[in-house]
Amino acid sequence: MRTFLRKLNKIFSSGSDTSTATVPDETVISDTIYNNYSFVIGSIFNYFNELPEEEKKRFVTRVYRFKESKKFHFIGLEHHDDTAILVSASAVQVTFGLKNYLLSHFNDIYVLADAYRMDDDEELYIGHVAPEGIYLSWKHFLYGYSNNCDNINVAVHEMAHALLYNNFFAQYGIDSHFRMNYERFSSSTGPILADVITNRRSYLRSYAFSNLHEFWAVSVEAFFVNPQGLKDNMAELYGALCKVLNQDPLTPCKILKSEP
Ligand SMILES: [Zn+2]
Repeated sequence: MRTFLRKLNKIFSSGSDTSTATVPDETVISDTIYNNYSFVIGSIFNYFNELPEEEKKRFVTRVYRFKESKKFHFIGLEHHDDTAILVSASAVQVTFGLKNYLLSHFNDIYVLADAYRMDDDEELYIGHVAPEGIYLSWKHFLYGYSNNCDNINVAVHEMAHALLYNNFFAQYGIDSHFRMNYERFSSSTGPILADVITNRRSYLRSYAFSNLHEFWAVSVEAFFVNPQGLKDNMAELYGALCKVLNQDPLTPCKILKSEP
């Protein structure tokens, strides 16, 4: 665990920049692409299936643009376009309420067949974010979207880390509203975090209490895996996440304000 925390600190300790880039949703996709993507995404994303038709179009367009902007590396499994579509969809799910959703700092996404080790570390990882890329175990990716009861979804978890990294430590694709709202989020959720650390009991899984970054990623995970459960058990945290991500997964449209 100590090695892991050291790595995390290393990951989150590089310089920051406040320049902003706006990414318009202008790309028009063909019906063939739309139908193919909808079929693939709809096969495992309930979130997507609940969207009204217009929002489905916006979602698929974002997934297409996200996927086209990244280089996917497959380690221990075959290169498959559907895999890249689904991994892109998990990023778009987390950032659907935000204007800048491309996580532009990250050019490379590594999909590994199963859990993996880093360097000479004995610990097994199912995903992590480093300045050079986003890493995910495909086996655990699928598990995250097949089970709604345990609040575990590695893709959502890592995309939440990547979103934070992109907005506070990277140079491109910063979403100024997200930055401002995240600062509000961390000050408003400070007492919640302090309370769960003191009492060591919470609806959130215990990994959330490792540090602030994990609290954020585990909260976002619970927010998307079982929104009703999080709302029932930690209403204040649920409301704070709705604000910072500009969406409410319990509503069919998801988005709160169309122009955040
Ligand atoms: Zn994490």
